[in-house]
Amino acid sequence: MTSGKAPFWQSKKLSEMSGEEWEQLCDGCGQCCLIKLEDEDTLELAYTRVACEFLDIASCRCTDYAHRTARIPGCLDLTPEAVATLGWLPETCAYRLIGEGRPLPSWHPLNSGRRESVHEAGISVRGFAIGEEGIDEDDLQDHILIRPGTDRGWK
Ligand code: SF4
Ligand code: SF4
Repeated sequence: MTSGKAPFWQSKKLSEMSGEEWEQLCDGCGQCCLIKLEDEDTLELAYTRVACEFLDIASCRCTDYAHRTARIPGCLDLTPEAVATLGWLPETCAYRLIGEGRPLPSWHPLNSGRRESVHEAGISVRGFAIGEEGIDEDDLQDHILIRPGTDRGWK
């Protein structure tokens, strides 16, 4: 018998979630771990298909999650306050969706009950990201995937 109580991602604001709930909210898409380039004039960010050196592209997981912000300059510790200000978060990012009062999609692992569903739905970077190794910083612009001002979602 179920209690009828809505799950945390349907009933809580970001600021009300426990640490465990907060971590569960990440869909594991890896989109935020793609290197971004800033437009000098507009300050808008463009996504490249090049992944942070710590991203395991096959699993779309960080290989040193516990120390990520200390080891990678620019890697952010997401907080409810930060989510509200980061305009570059992908349209499909679960933190962005909940922060904007929108529901999680059916492919989100919390809804599907399976981590693979984010990959099967084509949301994760698994199918197109490339590693940072061997790519010169000056060549990153050749790998721009989504330009400033265009839809940030992959789908
Ligand atoms: S974009 Fe959002 S949901 Fe996807 S990996 Fe990053 S924090 Fe998690
Ligand atoms: S350090 Fe980890 S969490 Fe941070 S951008 Fe790189 S892969 Fe993503």
